[in-house]
Amino acid sequence: MTYSIVRVTTLIGAHRYGNTDSDIAFLLTDSRSLCFPEETLFFALKSERNDGFRYIPELYRRGVRNFVVSAVPDDYATAYPDANFLKVESPLIALQRLAERHREEFDIPVVGITGSNGKTMVKEWLYQILSPDMMVVRSPRSYNSQIGVPLSVWLMTEKTQVGLFEAGISKPGEMLALRNIIQPTISVITNLGAAHQENFESQEAKCREKMTLFHDAGTAVYCSDEAVVNDTMNASDYNGERLAWSEKNPDAPFFIKSVEKKDTSTTVHYIYKGKEGVYTLPFIDEASVRNSVSCAVVALHLGLSPEVLDGRMRRLEPVAMRLEVKKGQRGCTLINDSYNSDVNSLDIALDFMNRRPDHKGRRRTLILSDIYQSGRPLDELYADVSAMACKRGVEKIIGIGPQIASQADVIEVPEKHFFPDCASFIRSAAFDGLHDEVILIKGARRFGFDNLTELLVEKVHETILEVNLNAVVKNLNYYRSFLHPDTKMVCMIKADAYGAGSVEIAKTLQEHRVDYLAVAVADEGVTLRKNGITQNIMIMNPEMTAFKTMFDYDLEPEVYSFRLLDALVTAARKEGITNFPVHIKLDTGMHRLGFDPEKDMDELIDRLHRQNAIIPRSVFSHFVGSDSDAFDEFSKRQFELFDKGSRRLQAAFQHKILRHIDNSAGIEHFPERQLDMCRLGLGLYGINPIDNSVINNVSTLRTTILQMRHVSAGETVGYSRKGKIERDSVIAAIPIGYADGLNRHLGNRHCYCLVNGKKADYVGNICMDVAMIDVTGIDCKEGDRVEIFGDGLPVTVLSDALDTIPYEVLTGISNRVKKVYFQD
Ligand SMILES: *Cc1c(COP(=O)(O)O)cnc(C)c1O
Repeated sequence: MTYSIVRVTTLIGAHRYGNTDSDIAFLLTDSRSLCFPEETLFFALKSERNDGFRYIPELYRRGVRNFVVSAVPDDYATAYPDANFLKVESPLIALQRLAERHREEFDIPVVGITGSNGKTMVKEWLYQILSPDMMVVRSPRSYNSQIGVPLSVWLMTEKTQVGLFEAGISKPGEMLALRNIIQPTISVITNLGAAHQENFESQEAKCREKMTLFHDAGTAVYCSDEAVVNDTMNASDYNGERLAWSEKNPDAPFFIKSVEKKDTSTTVHYIYKGKEGVYTLPFIDEASVRNSVSCAVVALHLGLSPEVLDGRMRRLEPVAMRLEVKKGQRGCTLINDSYNSDVNSLDIALDFMNRRPDHKGRRRTLILSDIYQSGRPLDELYADVSAMACKRGVEKIIGIGPQIASQADVIEVPEKHFFPDCASFIRSAAFDGLHDEVILIKGARRFGFDNLTELLVEKVHETILEVNLNAVVKNLNYYRSFLHPDTKMVCMIKADAYGAGSVEIAKTLQEHRVDYLAVAVADEGVTLRKNGITQNIMIMNPEMTAFKTMFDYDLEPEVYSFRLLDALVTAARKEGITNFPVHIKLDTGMHRLGFDPEKDMDELIDRLHRQNAIIPRSVFSHFVGSDSDAFDEFSKRQFELFDKGSRRLQAAFQHKILRHIDNSAGIEHFPERQLDMCRLGLGLYGINPIDNSVINNVSTLRTTILQMRHVSAGETVGYSRKGKIERDSVIAAIPIGYADGLNRHLGNRHCYCLVNGKKADYVGNICMDVAMIDVTGIDCKEGDRVEIFGDGLPVTVLSDALDTIPYEVLTGISNRVKKVYFQD
C-alpha cells in the first residue's frame, strides 16, 4: 500500500515545502534501518540523546527525498532541490496520526495487548496459534512504544486478516495515543505487575491508564481474579463484551476448572461460555500458563475450535528469554540472566534453574541484586523473593546492593550473604568458596554482573582467537577511501565473518553504519537478529526450506535462478508478503550461480513483473579474478556483460535498483567500477591479496606451551614415528590440533609458529588436540605464548604452505576456539 506525498501531507496536516511527486510505502525513524530510500518518509524525531534532523543530509545522500520535520532547513531549496519537507509542529504526533489514518482503512480484528509482563509472549504465541490459517501482522519484536506502535500498525496491508499489537506505557497519558493508533477490536491485559509504578500514584491509577486501551474495543480480555483489574473494570463504563477469565469464579466467561502440571507440560481444563474444553502446553512456569490463558480466550473468541487450539498449544515455542547457561569454575554451572530484575522474571529464571537436570547432588545458589521498580514495601517484596527461592530449592542467597542487604532479616534460606556491591563480593571468602553449585545470577546490569559472570566461567581451552575490532574499522575506512561518499557498502560476514565471529563483527559494522551485511545462510542471519543487529542483511545462499525464516527476520535473499525465484514468490504469497526485497545475481563468467545476462533477462523481467511478492533491491555479479592483472581483460568482459544486463533490469522498473560488482580486491583494483555499492570481504579481515602492508591484521590465533622435554637425536615425535629428530632437541607440546582447525598438512616441518617471536617448526604429525613444535635454542618456558598466525605471522604464510588461499585457513578455525575481542 502506498500513499502519495500529497495525500500524506493532508493526512498529517502538514505544510509542504518542495513539489516533487512521490509515493510513500515505508516509514523511517532510525536512519540505520533505511532500505528503500525512494519510497521512504523519514520522521526527524527528537529524543533526549538524539535529533533526527541531524541525519537529513546523510539520508538525502542515500536517496531519501521525503522528510517530516518541525523546522525546514534554511537552504532547503538549494541543498535539497528535489526533496519534500513536510513541516509540522511535532513529527512524532504526525507519525502517530499517519498510522491512525492507515489503521482506519481496515475493518478486521485487531488485538491490542497491554500489561506489565508477558505482552511479547502473548503476542508471539497468538501469532503462532493464528498464523497457520490467517494473515497476521504483528509488532516486530517488542515495538510497543509511542514510536514502535505506529511503525507496527503501518505494516498492515490489504492482505492482513488480523493485527496483533503490543502497547507499552511508562507514564500517565501515553495509552490514549496508543489506543487511537491501534484502535483495537479486542483488548487484552496480561497482568498488572509492578513495573513503572514509580510514575503512577497508585496501582489503581496505573490500571485505569492501561484500561484506556479497552475503550471502544468490542471485547476486553482480562483476569477477574486480579482484584485491582476487576474493580477497575467494574467501576468503568465499558460497554463492550467482558471476556474475563478466572480460576475462582465458575460464572466467568472463561473458567479454569483445573491446571495439572507434569514434568514438562501443563494441562488446562476450562469452561468457555458453557462448553468444556482442554489444552496442553509444553511449559510449566506460572507466567507461561497465565499467558496461555489470554491466548486461549482470544483464539476461541476469534473462532478457533477447542481441538485446533489444543493442537497449536502443544506446539508453542518459547519466546526468546535471555537466559544463558555456562560452565563455571570449580564444578559450578552458571545460569546467567542479566536481563532485568523484576520479581516475575525472577520466578521464570528460578523455574528454569529448577528444571535443569544438572543440579542432582549440587546445591542451588541465587546471586541477586537489588530489585527496582517494584513500588512495594521492601520487607514484603524480599519476603516474597525468599519464599519463591525456597520453593525452588535454593539453599543459598548472595544479595548484592544496599537495598537487599537491608532486608537480610526477611530472607530465610539456610545460607545467606550480603554485600554492598559486586566488587566486595568478588574480594570475599564467599566468592572463593563457590564450588559444585548451580548458580543463578540475576541482576541489573548496573551492578556489574557481567564482570562477575566473566570471573566465574571456566577458562577451558588455552587456545584463543584474538580479534581486533579497531583493525576492522581501520580496514573498513581504508576501503571506503576509494569510494565516492554516496557509494554504499556491503560487508561480507559469511562463514562466521571469515572465522572472526559474526556477531561482534556485525555489531561493530552496524555502529559504523555500513549499508548491508551479507551472510551465507539464513541461520547466520537469525543469529545476528537475535543479537540485536538491525542493519539490512543479505543472504547469499538462501535455502528453499528457510524462506519463512527470512521473512520473519527480514533477511533479504539473493536470487540466482528461475527455480529459486518461483519458489520464493510462492512462499512469500503464502505469507501474504508484498515487496520483499531481493538481490538478483547475474553470472558473467564465474559460471557458478546466477542468471545469464544475455539470455535470461526478458524472462526474468517478465516474471518479476507478473508478481508483487518480491521486488529487486539490487542486482550484482562477482569477478573471478579481480586481484590479478592477468585477468584484467576477462574482468573487463565481465563488467561489460554486467553493465548491459543490469541496465536492462533497471530500465524495466521505476524504483532504483542498486548495481554492484566490486569485491575487496575490485575496490582497489577497479575503483571506477564501484557503481552504487561494493562488497567488502577479505580486506575487512586484514588480508589484502594485492598489498598486505596497507591494512591491519585483525585475527591472531594464539595458544600456550603445555609441556617441554628434551628429545635425543634418533628418537621420533608423535604418531607413526614421522617426526625424526636429527639433533638433540627441545620439543614443546601446544594445545591446538586439527580439531581446532590447525591443518594436519602443516606438520612435519611444512610450516612454523612463533614462540617469543622466533620461528618454531611443527614436528611430526599434528594430533587432534595437540601439536608438537621444535623450540631448540629458543628462550622459552611452559606457559609461554605461541602465535599460530596473526600480528607477527601472516595467515598467508600458512595458506601458501598449504597450497590454498587464506579464506580456507580462516574459515577452518573450529568453533571450540574461544574468541576474545579487543576494542580501545
Ligand atoms: C565472498 C564474496 C565477496 C567478498 O569477496 P572478497 O574477495 O572476500 O572481498 C563478494 N561478493 C560475493 C558474491 C561473495 O560471495
